[in-house]
Amino acid sequence: MSSAFKNCRTVMVTGASRGLGLQMVESLATGSFSPGKIIATARDPSRAQELQNLAGKYPNVHIITLDVVSQDSIEKAAKEVDAIVQGEGLNCLINNAGINVIADFETVTAEQMLENFHTNSVAPLMVTKALLPLLQRAAARGTGMGIHRAAVHQHHSLLGSIELYWGDRASTFKWYPYRTSKAALNMLSRCMAVDLQDEGILCMALHPGWVRTDMGGPQAPLSTEESISSVLSVIGGLTEKDHGGFLHYTGEPLPW
Ligand code: NDP
Repeated sequence: MSSAFKNCRTVMVTGASRGLGLQMVESLATGSFSPGKIIATARDPSRAQELQNLAGKYPNVHIITLDVVSQDSIEKAAKEVDAIVQGEGLNCLINNAGINVIADFETVTAEQMLENFHTNSVAPLMVTKALLPLLQRAAARGTGMGIHRAAVHQHHSLLGSIELYWGDRASTFKWYPYRTSKAALNMLSRCMAVDLQDEGILCMALHPGWVRTDMGGPQAPLSTEESISSVLSVIGGLTEKDHGGFLHYTGEPLPW
């Protein structure tokens, strides 16, 4: 990933208090071509000590408060991001914040479905809408498609792939709220890709692999460093051909 972000001046990562979001901020801050402004959001920055340590060490890391399920918080955060990026606008928005409400067919409730949908499917839409003027500002300054101009990336999951959840593959992780919220996020990504194409804003979805985080658990095969070094290389290399796509962290296309 060393040079993947060399043409990206401003990047924002939601849910950067821990896990993949924190690793993204760390890898971006310590990379040889670090973006000029890395905006790391956390719903309670006072409890995100590792993120605070990064911001203390790297002056291009800016922490702002963002609870993605609160419209007030989203609007306040958008104003703060505006003040940070100013005329440059926002080159790359990474909608990473997510939750996994575990419930199967027997146990699932309407409240659990809605809670998971709010965070994983509705929030990325509302966050992107609030930041659209800043993405448009960045897009107006460039040509082509990619993070040198303006891009929105969503953290999807293989567990949200409808095509892959069948036959032999359908015996594990029978999580109704999570799987369906990520499947909805797939369509959200496609809808935004259709609507933002003419603005030159690249939209795509990426599965980061199964990673050892609080959500992924200790048995996951990938470390956060392994996942994110590959994820950032893929995001850094996105072009027109990836617009509207769903990619594996290795860069290969995935079935919806
Ligand atoms: P973690 O559970 O380790 O971290 C989740 C992050 O999201 C935390 O920073 C958390 O903040 C934040 N978050 C949750 N709800 C909100 C909210 N309402 N407002 C703001 N931030 C919020 O998960 P991972 O790092 O593993 O996952 C990150 C993303 O990657 C998720 O979207 C997940 O679905 C996806 N993914 C992960 C995989 C894995 O194997 N780990 C596999 C496939 C996809 P806080 O500390 O405040 O709770």
